[in-house]
Amino acid sequence: VSRARWQVIYQNALKSGAELEAFFQAPFPKLSYPICIPLPLAERIKLRGLDSPLARQFLPHKDELLPGGLVDPIGDHQHSPTPQIVHRYGSRALLMPTTVCPVICRYCFRKNELYSDDELFKPKLEEALNYLKGHEEIEEVILSGGDPLMLSDKKLAQLIERLVQIPHLRFLRFHTRALTTLPERFSSRLLTVLNRAAKRFDRVSLVFHLNHASELSPKSLKIVGKLRKMSLDLYSQSVLLHGINDSTDTLYELFSSLAQVGITPYYLHHPDSTQGARHFMVALETGRRLYAPLREKLPGWALPRYVLEIPDGGGKTDAFNPESLNFSGTLLTRTGQTVKVNFK
Ligand code: SF4
Repeated sequence: VSRARWQVIYQNALKSGAELEAFFQAPFPKLSYPICIPLPLAERIKLRGLDSPLARQFLPHKDELLPGGLVDPIGDHQHSPTPQIVHRYGSRALLMPTTVCPVICRYCFRKNELYSDDELFKPKLEEALNYLKGHEEIEEVILSGGDPLMLSDKKLAQLIERLVQIPHLRFLRFHTRALTTLPERFSSRLLTVLNRAAKRFDRVSLVFHLNHASELSPKSLKIVGKLRKMSLDLYSQSVLLHGINDSTDTLYELFSSLAQVGITPYYLHHPDSTQGARHFMVALETGRRLYAPLREKLPGWALPRYVLEIPDGGGKTDAFNPESLNFSGTLLTRTGQTVKVNFK
């Protein structure tokens, strides 16, 4: 089978400590979490320096050994009725067709579940599709992962076709990290698949995960230009991360750059308390102090919602508290329950 260019790039990504050391000519700590950095991204990291915000998101760091944090910090497992579905909110469900990502982010709570081989289609898909069929309250399917765009064009088109056949699904959403880490994935074939999907659902959106304006390379911007010409909604989601974007100026630059190129900033996530990622943690009070001035600086539509996940599967709630910056105590969940939290 001939492989697409992006598949070859993914295949040749740096995936071991020895490969990293040879490429960057620098030592790295030996850790048990998987590594995956496509070479074009590695080249960009090299240019920006091993201490740059780009580097720190993807290169292993000795602080990953710091104790504390949870393997499943947002309680996904409790809301997973079948292995590839997370159904936390009535009208929408996450479907995870793959465990593969274009890159492995050091702060990610799913990094314990990801595989660095190419298991591109998880085996329980039929079960997942049956679940969606049987739940008419679900209007939106969010393809997440892993990264759904790591499926081949053919598999992705087949999956979309299966979803089109479920009459109550009106909206389709993709969560992807590929725009800035493997932009080669956005081949003209993929654009054709997305364009077709856009015609078959009421709305199709792409939510790009990125955390720093420096991730937007000329290649990524060119893709955004093409996607904007199609009937797709383009959004972003970012994680607030210590040492990467924890300053108001950095966040402003990120969101205003996104707004400028036609991507609407959607979510700024407070970091989850993740095992192996404690060094990225930011205190909630700090996050609020950083976010507050953004409300003055950005147009309302370019200001993402700053949200946190209530541990144990409670779901998202607003992280910004207009009454006091240091509030930490009882939060209201979306179903009206009160939960005691302490995010210091
Ligand atoms: S691409 Fe997303 S799911 Fe994959 S490692 Fe990065 S943050 Fe985690």
